[in-house]
Amino acid sequence: MAQTEFPPISGHLVDPSLKGDEFVLRKSRVLRRLRFFGALEQRYLDDRAPDRLRLLQMGAALSALLSIFFLGTDWLMVRDQFDTALKLRLLLQVPLILAWLLCFKHLGRATRELFGLSSSVVAGGISIYLCLGSSDEFGMLYLASMVMILLFNGGVVRMYFRMALAVNMLTLVMFVATLLMLPHPPEAIMLSMCLVMGSTALFSLFGSYWLEHEDRTNWFLSRQEQALLDELERGNQRLDEVSRHDPLTDLANRRYFDEFLRQVWERAQQSGEEVAVLMMDIDHFKHYNDHYGHPAGDACLKNVAAALLSSLRKPGDLVGRFGGEEFIAVLTKTSLPLAVAAAERVRAAVADAAWPHEASPGLRQITLSVGVSTMLPEPGAEGPAGLVADADAALYRAKAMGRNAVYAFKVD
Ligand code: GH3
Ligand code: MG
Ligand code: MG
Repeated sequence: MAQTEFPPISGHLVDPSLKGDEFVLRKSRVLRRLRFFGALEQRYLDDRAPDRLRLLQMGAALSALLSIFFLGTDWLMVRDQFDTALKLRLLLQVPLILAWLLCFKHLGRATRELFGLSSSVVAGGISIYLCLGSSDEFGMLYLASMVMILLFNGGVVRMYFRMALAVNMLTLVMFVATLLMLPHPPEAIMLSMCLVMGSTALFSLFGSYWLEHEDRTNWFLSRQEQALLDELERGNQRLDEVSRHDPLTDLANRRYFDEFLRQVWERAQQSGEEVAVLMMDIDHFKHYNDHYGHPAGDACLKNVAAALLSSLRKPGDLVGRFGGEEFIAVLTKTSLPLAVAAAERVRAAVADAAWPHEASPGLRQITLSVGVSTMLPEPGAEGPAGLVADADAALYRAKAMGRNAVYAFKVD
């Protein structure tokens, strides 16, 4: 059936995780039919497969035991056929069940479900064979034991409804056909046996249907819930990303940088290690914008950001965009000489790239000025804001020195 025939009823029925084959589900209709559309049906069956496997294994073990116990009924009701019963049960029924038991793990999900069908046919077939061959007075009543097949399939192995329907119908046909083959069966007994078999089949099918309906509903709702949670999680992650990154340069934004620096400072207070801040500013960037235009200015900011990132790679350090054409970096556990060396590396990386800047009053290329400050986070120290302010003041000095320069400003 084409998916377009199912317009959205409400948002929560759309499974957002199935992007490949987008479809919309009409819940009540889908659930009443006991079949989801497309890939969702496969997922349901796959998800349920481990539980089904355990149930089938338990059911098979139980049915092997039951078929041995059933020899008691064979002895009591069709004693003249007991030798045959012994052979059929021990050489056919039990080995068949054990073979299933051994193979379950290696079989596909759909093939496993055939266990119920095959064991029902064999159990029914044995009952019929013994009943027809017996001249015992209970021979006919013995056939009523086929009711166990229906109960077993519905209650123990909990066959999926469609399979249960097919197996119950087959069992009923076998049952009625056998009754009709019996010579002169008493009508009253025959009818009441049919009534018992028929109503058991009906009740067990009713149970199978609603069990499966409930199971599918629960599964579907839990998937919906999971899909919503996943979506929420993805949304939160995206939000988190957005709130941390500067969209143009992909560096940390000012807000995240401030938070990061605060944490670095707190950690440094405990470890007693120095924290360094580099404040970096592109020289004569206004002229660049005026000359090349704003989009070219943006491209230049990206290039410089990439150069900063590749020059300051030490784990635990962070480079951010402070605003406009200003960048900032925090270097953990870094003394003044090391911070100055890092600043020099950054300045040189930009200078060596030699991006043209025809409108620059100085060198005809993009250059960077860097202010450096370091601080020991001791009691009485100014704190992160002071460290940044010092780096900014150092940057001002670097600019005053003629730009394309590094100036270090140390406060203890
Ligand atoms: P100095 O060497 O003293 O730093 O001079 P400057 O021209 O770089 O500094 P100024 O503060 O005068 O100008 C900064 C310019 O940076 C102004 C503005 O056009 C540009 N700018 C700020 N943010 C952006 C941005 O996001 N994209 C672009 N393309 N330009 C920006
Ligand atoms: Mg500038
Ligand atoms: Mg500036």
